[in-house]
Amino acid sequence: MKVGYLCTFTPKEIIHSAGFLPYRVFATESPITLASGYIQSYACSQARGALECALNGDFYAFVFTRCCDTLMRLTDIFEFVGKRVHNIEFPTKIGNIDYYVKELKEFLAVLKEWGGDVSFESLLESIKLYRELEEKLKKLFTLAPDYETVIKVQQIDVKDAIKLVDEKLKSAKKWGNKPKVLITGSVCPYLKVYDLFREAGFSIKDDICTGSRFFEFNYPSFEPEDLDSALRFIAEKYFYKSPCPTKHYSNDRRFDYVLKLAEDCDAVVFLLVKFCEPHFFDYPQLKEKLEQMGKKVALIELEFPVVSTEQIRTRIEALREVI
Ligand code: SF4
Repeated sequence: MKVGYLCTFTPKEIIHSAGFLPYRVFATESPITLASGYIQSYACSQARGALECALNGDFYAFVFTRCCDTLMRLTDIFEFVGKRVHNIEFPTKIGNIDYYVKELKEFLAVLKEWGGDVSFESLLESIKLYRELEEKLKKLFTLAPDYETVIKVQQIDVKDAIKLVDEKLKSAKKWGNKPKVLITGSVCPYLKVYDLFREAGFSIKDDICTGSRFFEFNYPSFEPEDLDSALRFIAEKYFYKSPCPTKHYSNDRRFDYVLKLAEDCDAVVFLLVKFCEPHFFDYPQLKEKLEQMGKKVALIELEFPVVSTEQIRTRIEALREVI
């Protein structure tokens, strides 16, 4: 049974260990129609598109993790339209592991009510499987970023996902020397957009939720020994994953992360979903810092479904010409 989730901070290992299929929900290529009756058109199209999927799809339940205001209020709308929903209070301010472990224990109780029981053994197995998947994706992206694969693995069983990445690794070839662009932003499930960068002659590196933010983790240094320590392991794993602007860190972790990624890139493109406030709030300061580093910077706004890619193509080609 599918349990839908939207954010890369969702502890999918726990959902999987309870016997459900964690299924990442994205806006699709279908026009947003039904959802428009419940959500304003100035909400981001990832939120509107996810609601459209929920209204049309066969999900058992949905799990949200606290992130931006729009997705938080989307939880209420999902409940209003009769969906089974649980909201995990992921701390906005990163640091209090004990609080989050307590929250994860409550999540276990909810999963039990939904008919899924989590044991230490099943959770340990899921932790290992997802780590294997993430490490293989890292290897694949070091050779050649493959956005079709990284999006697909978020909607299939983790064992099948590992097999798929293994297959891709067999034929992956390292990209040649081309100008490199860092794409930073929230989500982009539209594969055509990545093709446009390649067609313009760029090699790609990313900091987005449909790319490396799905698999870039810093793993805790201990091995789980019981259910409690397995939850602590997950809490730490997600606290210190690749950062996103909806979280507050005690230092400038998010900016440092993006600036470090940009070091070996010729250009940085902010690929931002229209009305995505957390990313737009960071944009002016990050842009200034990147320009001080000598990077060419461009902003491309997206709205799903992407109706025409030609405007985006023109922006990318213009950027390529000035490098
Ligand atoms: S941008 Fe942040 S809050 Fe939004 S989906 Fe990605 S990780 Fe979650």
